[in-house]
Amino acid sequence: MFQNSGAEATEAAIKVARRYFYSIGKPNKNRILCIKNSFHGRTLAAIFASGSKKMTEGFGPKVTGFDHFSFGDHNSLKKKINKNTAAIMLETIMGEGGIKVIPDWCLKELRALCNKKKILLILDEVQCGIGRSGDFFAFEKSKVKPDIVPIAKGIGGGFPIGAVLMNKKVASGMTPGTHGSTFGGNPLAMSVGNTVMDIISNKKFLNNVKSLSKYFLFKLNKVQEQYPNLIKQIRGRGFLIGIQLYKDQTEFIKKLMDNQLLTIRAAENVVRILPPLNVKKNEIDLAIKIIEKVCSQIK
Ligand SMILES: *Cc1c(COP(=O)(O)O)cnc(C)c1O
Repeated sequence: MFQNSGAEATEAAIKVARRYFYSIGKPNKNRILCIKNSFHGRTLAAIFASGSKKMTEGFGPKVTGFDHFSFGDHNSLKKKINKNTAAIMLETIMGEGGIKVIPDWCLKELRALCNKKKILLILDEVQCGIGRSGDFFAFEKSKVKPDIVPIAKGIGGGFPIGAVLMNKKVASGMTPGTHGSTFGGNPLAMSVGNTVMDIISNKKFLNNVKSLSKYFLFKLNKVQEQYPNLIKQIRGRGFLIGIQLYKDQTEFIKKLMDNQLLTIRAAENVVRILPPLNVKKNEIDLAIKIIEKVCSQIK
């Protein structure tokens, strides 16, 4: 189903999950289990799905139907699944939450858990999908197959496009008239998306993302070794990279910007770097130079 943004895509993903259980005669199976302080967009349902105080403050009444567990807390995750749980929804790599990669073994166990409990797995690939991780989908490396996948950001290459992918089983609940969007799937957006697909589908393109991002991460780890009291950790996969500092990242980001390197914050003192997927090696070298310069000024 084509949409116009990531938030619309995650909203639609929630609708698809609920409608599937409704269509098989289990309308009470409608709760979605999410990671606390995750990010799924800024519509009403999506902010309450995030379980983040910062995002929901002042926007009550609360949209119900979401339960939460903390990142990495597997016991809590298992405990929070009950007879009303319809799906687990998470970002394969948490973006806003601080560039936290869900390990492959964890995705595999999540899939097994969902199968065992007969619930759906929604992997939000709005930020980490469409080549950002080095694979077309970030979950591909794990060989796990989710039931529902909202995508957006990358597929538009700057133009607003969102979409929800789903398997045949869950799609059966979405009969004509259950969902719609005036602009979703409009000819201009589809033409842009098609062109992005053509470019990314070229094997060379993603291989380049893989090798250059490895180079970038290697270089960043060298910088971390030089400044171990400033940089706590280099995180991420592909061109979804986080520099986690020991302290607030505002000054760091400002100084990078003064040097013409645009980055963005993420949770846990992380400076988020999302280069265009067609970035060149010499541009990465330039970025490393700027980062080193800023490190030396802040230290
Ligand atoms: C950006 C983002 C969204 C929301 O996308 P918008 O196009 O800004 O509505 C949803 N989920 C994730 C993981 C995102 O990074």
